[in-house]
Amino acid sequence: MRFIADGMLGKLTRWLRMLGQNVKYSNSLDDAQLLAIAKKERRVLLTRDFGLYQHATARGVEAFYLEGKTEEEKLAELAKRFDIKLEIDMAESRCPKCNAIVKPIPREKVADKVEKSTFEHYSEFWKCPRCGQIYWQGAHWIKIRKTLDAAEQTLQKLKKR
Ligand SMILES: [Zn+2]
Repeated sequence: MRFIADGMLGKLTRWLRMLGQNVKYSNSLDDAQLLAIAKKERRVLLTRDFGLYQHATARGVEAFYLEGKTEEEKLAELAKRFDIKLEIDMAESRCPKCNAIVKPIPREKVADKVEKSTFEHYSEFWKCPRCGQIYWQGAHWIKIRKTLDAAEQTLQKLKKR
């Protein structure tokens, strides 16, 4: 399953990429370009614009209209519809910035690329082969887990409806 997200879904795009989903995103694409790329690359169009959603389905482009207001709600809706696991598996995780699959990088190779305290605290690091960004499961990881746990709880409620 591959997606293309409309310009209003930058934050959601980063979440989905972390969860391993292939999501194309640019806030400079107009509706016609979004539809053309979705059709050509067989990507599901994710949108919060109901007019665009209707336009897409009328043109034979698979689209999903997101109703949720919070990231948790949006992630839960997507997990329900597309059976996306709300857990980050670093073996499949993508760079939130550019969509490439991140790769593990030996700790010694990041010594001069991250802060000394980060280097001392963490043993596992990943690097994006496309943009070079280094990742680790730092203090922000607690917040990430909380959001995903909340999304999972919302998903269970949606399933009971
Ligand atoms: Zn990247």
